[in-house]
Amino acid sequence: MASLYKTPLTSLKGVGAKRAELFEKLGVHSVGELLYFYPRAYEDWTTVEKIENCQEGGTYCIRAVLGTAVSDAMLPGGRIISKATVYDDTGTLKMVWFNNRYISQMLAYGGEYFFFGKITADNFGAQMLAPTFASVAKGAVIHPIYRTTAGLFTKNISSAVEQALALLPEEVNDPIPAPIRKKYRLCGLKKALNDIHFPKTRGELEDARRRLVTEELLVLNLGMRHLKGSSRGVSGAKVERDCSAAFEKLLPFRLTGAQQRAIADCVRDITSNGAPMNRLVQGDVGSGKTAVAASVCYTIAKNGFQAAFMAPTEILAKQHYDTLSALLENTELHVALLTGSLKESEKKRIREALADGTVDLVIGTHALIADKTVFHNLGLAVTDEQHRFGVAQRAALLGKGHNPHLMVMSATPIPRTLGLIIFGDLDISVIDELPPSRKPVKTAWRGTADRGKIYQFIKQEIAQGRQAFIVCPLIEEGELDNVASAEEYAANLMLHDFADIPVAVVHGKTKADEKERIMADFAANRYSLLVSTTVIEVGVDVPNASVMMIENAERFGLSQLHQLRGRVGRGQFQSYCILISDNRSPDTAERLRVMCSTNDGFKIADEDLKMRGPGDFFGERQHGLPQLAIADFADAKSLELSQKIADDILTTYRDLRSDELRLLKAEVDRLFARGGQNTLN
Ligand code: ADP
Ligand code: MG
Repeated sequence: MASLYKTPLTSLKGVGAKRAELFEKLGVHSVGELLYFYPRAYEDWTTVEKIENCQEGGTYCIRAVLGTAVSDAMLPGGRIISKATVYDDTGTLKMVWFNNRYISQMLAYGGEYFFFGKITADNFGAQMLAPTFASVAKGAVIHPIYRTTAGLFTKNISSAVEQALALLPEEVNDPIPAPIRKKYRLCGLKKALNDIHFPKTRGELEDARRRLVTEELLVLNLGMRHLKGSSRGVSGAKVERDCSAAFEKLLPFRLTGAQQRAIADCVRDITSNGAPMNRLVQGDVGSGKTAVAASVCYTIAKNGFQAAFMAPTEILAKQHYDTLSALLENTELHVALLTGSLKESEKKRIREALADGTVDLVIGTHALIADKTVFHNLGLAVTDEQHRFGVAQRAALLGKGHNPHLMVMSATPIPRTLGLIIFGDLDISVIDELPPSRKPVKTAWRGTADRGKIYQFIKQEIAQGRQAFIVCPLIEEGELDNVASAEEYAANLMLHDFADIPVAVVHGKTKADEKERIMADFAANRYSLLVSTTVIEVGVDVPNASVMMIENAERFGLSQLHQLRGRVGRGQFQSYCILISDNRSPDTAERLRVMCSTNDGFKIADEDLKMRGPGDFFGERQHGLPQLAIADFADAKSLELSQKIADDILTTYRDLRSDELRLLKAEVDRLFARGGQNTLN
């Protein structure tokens, strides 16, 4: 099998240098790769319809006898039209082909064939348009349809594939070990390859697909784990006492069940005396991740270790610090804030306190991973809003201790199954419940004609003491001028509708420290209205804000819209999200409808995954996942199965480098090479 990857396509009959070039255009470079060039669709010729049941507009396979010879005629312009009439025991049907002068040689009067095609109707009645056909002996199968390119047709490809399949050895070495195949009822590789191209029944096709999808996701799964499989030390900080109950007493509210479960997961990890915790805590915006992190920090600190809590921006760090230092005020724990903007003397003082162990819990920004920051005994590293940190930064924070436990928090709702692959070796806790006092945000979709009314509504809310956001997408020079730039938009508001109201503007060109100041002032209610591009800080908690108005909503993806909406509805007030768009394209309509119909981030993430693929969660291909040939990231069932098999394989065979997994490892290398990444080692 491996050698087929070195066999050139030109070794196949009917594939010369020119055709091989066309195959390359489709990404197929060898006979081996051709086997993995799966059909994009199938024509099912196994379900045969009677002529009397064929409806106009439908596509059918009929079994019929040629009742006339094929007659060719020349149309004006030189096109050839071929016609024939066929019959079965229920009726007759006309067949029409264009520009194929060989039809009459391929079909014999009185012969019985399968015909496959679409029924159309004109003034002279119904006909089957340009049907494909095959003799009855050959026809009762499912025909593959391939992705094609100019000059290379499905029939060329399927003939090449047929030859390639014949080149497979009697016994194909299967990357998936036999015991695993047996246990999960996966058919063998050779059968799968045969049946994915030329299935005889739907059942065969389904089995082949299941096997190949599972294999591809399994390979991906193992690859991601291998990439991330850290060489972290054998055991993490040794925590004896679970102090989460004592922590809960400090809170002004009761934890939700989901928060309690996430905390329990973490506590189990850190008290197990096993490998260090490696946990992703995922919770929708406003689900209360901070309290979960704080509880675990508390337990760590009460057990004599230090905890570090890293946030992506100064304002978030400051906000967490204010919350946590107030909570822990009457305990013996020492909490500190370490950010870049502190005075040098202040930073020095805090770093000394970290080095000698006086500080138990430090909250900070990137300043935490500066060389100068040294910990006495770091036992837990927490990163908030994980997507803002690279793997390197996470590793740098971990490097500040001796195998500290790791907790990463994310508000990007990634469908669980996908998270399992992307985060590889991270365990996942999901906070899938919002605090009970929360009122779901009411979302509406309006056209630009309603803008005036919405401004009035925002003014009413502000008059009642609330605050509002207006988001207008960034304008690039020369872009359509119906997208107002934030500056101009705000200037307009200040001159007219909101003349007597304090309005602030933040956009891409606002300097970082200026942005921080404005955000802090907004959080302190010194502004009632914040006009911005999408730069509103992720995670900023302004419970008093009750309106989020989004201009040109069609410009945002679902996940982005959901993140923006998450800026409101964080307090006890009824909040509103108003999506403005005059765009009526089906795509936009579908997205905005989903937004109006649910507040559930995971549901939205699933929809987003279906509509746009996984790229949108992380920006263009930032997820670094390779392109898949047959599997689908939205296929939760298969993702779960592959995850289970990966666990099983690694338990059974220990390591991807073990001999039994040699072929599977080669597949991993191949998949990742296709994704433009280096092979693993
Ligand atoms: P996020 O998950 O988006 O980081 P936060 O941790 O910022 O959410 O919490 C959002 C708000 O909800 C905060 O004001 C917090 O005090 C409050 N909160 C968190 N947990 C609860 C709870 N169990 N009951 C009531 N309010 C809560
Ligand atoms: Mg948060």
